[in-house]
Amino acid sequence: MKFSDLQLTTPYLALDTLFYDRVEPTPLEKPFLVAASQDAAKLLGIDEDVTMDEALVKIVNAEMKLKGSQSFAMCYAGHQFGCFVPRLGDGRAVNLGKVNGQNLQLKGAGTTLYSRQGDGRAVLRSSIREFLMSEAMHGLGISTSRALALIGSDTDVPRERWEKGAIVLRLCPTWVRFGTFEYFSAAEETQKLQQLADYVIDESYPELKNEEDKYLKMYEKAVQKSAKTVAKWQAYGFNHGVLNTDNMAIDGSTIDYGPFAFLDIYDPNYVCNRSDTQGRYSFRGQPGIVHWNLSRLALALTPLINHDAALEVLEDTFGDVYETEYTRLMYKRMGLQTKEEKDLSLLKLMLRSLEQSVIDYNVFFRKLSVYQGKRSEILELAVYKEYLERWLDTYDARVKKESFSDEQRHKNMLHVNPKYILKNHILQEAVEKAQKNDFSMVNDLLRVALAPFDEHPELEYLAKPTPQSAKNLKLSCSS
Ligand code: AMP
Ligand code: MG
Ligand code: MG
Repeated sequence: MKFSDLQLTTPYLALDTLFYDRVEPTPLEKPFLVAASQDAAKLLGIDEDVTMDEALVKIVNAEMKLKGSQSFAMCYAGHQFGCFVPRLGDGRAVNLGKVNGQNLQLKGAGTTLYSRQGDGRAVLRSSIREFLMSEAMHGLGISTSRALALIGSDTDVPRERWEKGAIVLRLCPTWVRFGTFEYFSAAEETQKLQQLADYVIDESYPELKNEEDKYLKMYEKAVQKSAKTVAKWQAYGFNHGVLNTDNMAIDGSTIDYGPFAFLDIYDPNYVCNRSDTQGRYSFRGQPGIVHWNLSRLALALTPLINHDAALEVLEDTFGDVYETEYTRLMYKRMGLQTKEEKDLSLLKLMLRSLEQSVIDYNVFFRKLSVYQGKRSEILELAVYKEYLERWLDTYDARVKKESFSDEQRHKNMLHVNPKYILKNHILQEAVEKAQKNDFSMVNDLLRVALAPFDEHPELEYLAKPTPQSAKNLKLSCSS
């Protein structure tokens, strides 16, 4: 199957016209392919090389249409930094339709009814970041929207300075957001709210279709999925940056990559988004914020479900799922297979030691994955070494109690502790090269993004600790 042979359907258009606005995407000037993910293409059932498909750029640039495609922008609301905004919507994303359970969307494809003051565009810099991070999160096993293709162009787009416009073809099992529910709830459109809930059950939770209390169960699923996703962010050190309710997918997929960051050094108070002056979306605050966003979703659903029952579900489910998933992953990252009573305190002590040591978070785990009592390789990563020394004493004693051999433990750890993490200084280097028309690094990063646990000897330089000057910097929101 070729990309250009895809046949789309548009189930979202069967909903009431309040849900969307039909809009044609606006092409960029002189478009060219920057990168494409064959792995994402496979999701659509494509087995032929997408980069060889002559129609790819034309379709991503909206000069050609896929069969069955009918383009539209989705309407939603959302809490932005805690304040309710009754109407947002896809201001620069145009949906094309659906195939193989994936909804195709062009981000940066021009203005829509929901663009407000915006120009409907996305710049090459932020599009490279979104393209690569979508694939990298998937590579790490974190639920996320995907990116099939990225095109650049000669269209000038004004940001802090002039930049070039780009479009990412993104895919997601759903683009319905918490904010989509908030839109209909705030508008007191109860019948539409129910229509939306039925749509979401169809699209994301079909197993609930014939259940009693299906709306409450849908909410419970959203709680479970979101708790699991944020647990993975915390385990791998991902800071989303803009966790507004309009940036939360109803199926727990990570979406809307903006001023995100992977932690360089382990600093739980890190805030990646420069505009977030209050630190609302700090790394350590993320589980609490996701919980709060879920409480907004519960409120939005009150015309359909009993509010107390929803809050009970939230309280009964979120913390448990979060803790279980977070500790499961962290014990794996630490190489602990069996369970010991003091493992939780070993984990907490590790986090405290990492914080005190000033150390590259993910490089630490990769080194721990081959650690055999010789400490220098780990300690040389740390600015302050005595905290880790003490922790390693306890860790040494603990791993002696493991039933697996050191060899087996190391092998397991290398499968959960990535060698390659797309930290911001690395992405920035790729962006700067791309801005000079050299896309080789974007494509190198795509390869490691999709196989972050494997060795890529020729790309060894991408696996180093972040240099001092680039550690935990803040990013501009402009995109
Ligand atoms: P975000 O926080 O980036 O997910 O964006 C919040 C809202 O602003 C969404 O409704 C976006 O569609 C909209 N938006 C962001 N950038 C632009 C832009 N350049 N043009 C039009 N709308 C935009
Ligand atoms: Mg409409
Ligand atoms: Mg958004």
